[in-house]
Amino acid sequence: MGETTPTYDKLAQRWIAALDQELPAAVELRKELHANPRVSGEEQDTTDAVASAMELDFKSLATTGGISRIGPQTGPSIALRGELDALPVEEATGVGWASSNTAMHACGHDVHLAALVAVVRAAKRLELPYGLVPFLQPREETYPSGALDIKDSGAFATYGVAHAIGAHVHPDVPLGAVASGEGFINAAAGEFIITVDGQGGHGAYPHKANDVAVCVAHVVSGLSEIVRRTSNPMVPALISVGSVQVGSSAANVLAGKGTIKTTVRTSSSAAAQEIATAVQGFVEHTAQAYGCTGDLEYLPGEPALINDEHLAANFAAVQGTLGLETGEPMRSLGADDFSFYGELVPSLMCFVGVGNGATPSLHDAQFLPPDSAVGYTAKALIAGYLAAARALDVK
Ligand SMILES: [Zn+2]
Repeated sequence: MGETTPTYDKLAQRWIAALDQELPAAVELRKELHANPRVSGEEQDTTDAVASAMELDFKSLATTGGISRIGPQTGPSIALRGELDALPVEEATGVGWASSNTAMHACGHDVHLAALVAVVRAAKRLELPYGLVPFLQPREETYPSGALDIKDSGAFATYGVAHAIGAHVHPDVPLGAVASGEGFINAAAGEFIITVDGQGGHGAYPHKANDVAVCVAHVVSGLSEIVRRTSNPMVPALISVGSVQVGSSAANVLAGKGTIKTTVRTSSSAAAQEIATAVQGFVEHTAQAYGCTGDLEYLPGEPALINDEHLAANFAAVQGTLGLETGEPMRSLGADDFSFYGELVPSLMCFVGVGNGATPSLHDAQFLPPDSAVGYTAKALIAGYLAAARALDVK
């Protein structure tokens, strides 16, 4: 370790110097990508634009994505992710390079891609200690998750990926700082689809029906109590009800069927399964009490996002030398499918500050990180590569 640190200091300096030359073009590319967003599943044009900007051959990945490798072609490699997709949001920023269609890069993926291009173009002029694998991930914003497809594709094994690094812009971190930190970062996410079936009827004769609407109301109001009684209060867990559908528009018709859709956020997939089992029992028995039948379908989504402790420690050690301030670790019950990569290899996700106190939130029609976010994100990716290289040295 003591031997390798000075070497990487030099590599970091050279990388930053090369990066500075790439950034003006990367900022222009970001604007081009921003003006031509593609929604989930339709990202091929974006992949082509990024591949050509990198002047690299990309192999197809998860249908519309791509993967490549530079530096040493054998031995372990370090993968850097760029997400490709925009959102079905109508842009309201008013800038000259605003979206030219009905989608918008409202999650900053345009910034991430431009940063990755700058990092890779700069890295091509350097001697890297380990392979660098840039990969372009489709469908971060929708299911089926692009990351899950990439995980299942075997591409990480083919490309010798030993560590994966992700960097995401975030308005809650001040501009110039990067937040990382070890351990739990984002929740395991999933959905519960609850259905209640019973006998419909006339509102004037509830004794001849099951009154499914009232049963559904009791299920909805009892859900958070089930979470409270099932999960350790020192460990975060929640259910949020996003949709309740029961009956038609008629006031005097008792419905025979109701559906409740919830998101469930926990610290692990196992905790979500425990809650699912408890909710299933609650739904069945509550329905029974109303003469109805109830059922629960649990749709697991992303696993919890866990940052590897060694990568996090190394990242904290190098980020200062790259001119990045250290932000408070960002932990939330949000979810990012980057977590699937952590199931394959020790990985690290960091959050690049774009906040100035009044920054609109991610996915907002006015979310527009400044040009400088491209450089900060690029430096965060370089810090991630160097953190992973240090971890590989001591293996
Ligand atoms: Zn995003």
